[in-house]
Amino acid sequence: MSIFDEIKERVTAYDVVTYYGIIVDSKGMCRCPFHNDRNPSMKVDKRYHCFGCGADGDATDFVANYFGLSVIEAAKKLNEDMKLQLRIGCDKRLFPKSQEQIMQEKEQAWKKDVIRAFNILRRDAINILTKYHKLLWEWKREYGPEAMNEGDANWHPFFVEALGKLEHVNELLDDLSFGDRTKQLDVLETYGEEIRRIGERIKQFD
Ligand SMILES: [Zn+2]
Repeated sequence: MSIFDEIKERVTAYDVVTYYGIIVDSKGMCRCPFHNDRNPSMKVDKRYHCFGCGADGDATDFVANYFGLSVIEAAKKLNEDMKLQLRIGCDKRLFPKSQEQIMQEKEQAWKKDVIRAFNILRRDAINILTKYHKLLWEWKREYGPEAMNEGDANWHPFFVEALGKLEHVNELLDDLSFGDRTKQLDVLETYGEEIRRIGERIKQFD
């Protein structure tokens, strides 16, 4: 139901005409405010109709014509004056979204999607790097030359990898976790492929 229908259900032309101070006689006739009416020639009931000038309409039309308002403004005025408590501003049929508003909403939705996708990527990267980081620590401890009882020349490849990668992985984790968005984006752009490969590689250690 439109706001106009709602008003029509709750307020008659008679209510409105009398509310704004026009005297209606016992036959439901009044002097028409829309032409120079000497004798009452306007019939007022649910609607109003002037037999003199042909003015005709419902409560909202009357307010619009009487006060020189658009029908929407008239509906607002009626809503306020007669305390109808209708939520006129929320009626989408009366206030269709502007093109600009639609574009803005689309853009916001798009940004939201991008940020969501970005956060998923970032979260996955952090998960992979955290697991890898843990592995590197274990390798450093378990495959070190003292543990393996070997000379410098025969360092275990896991130990070498740990030495080579720990600091780098630390930095990536730090940037992804605590860097600003630009930094995070930068890390994913530059090291995304490397992180993906690490993810593949460490699956066997799960
Ligand atoms: Zn008239």
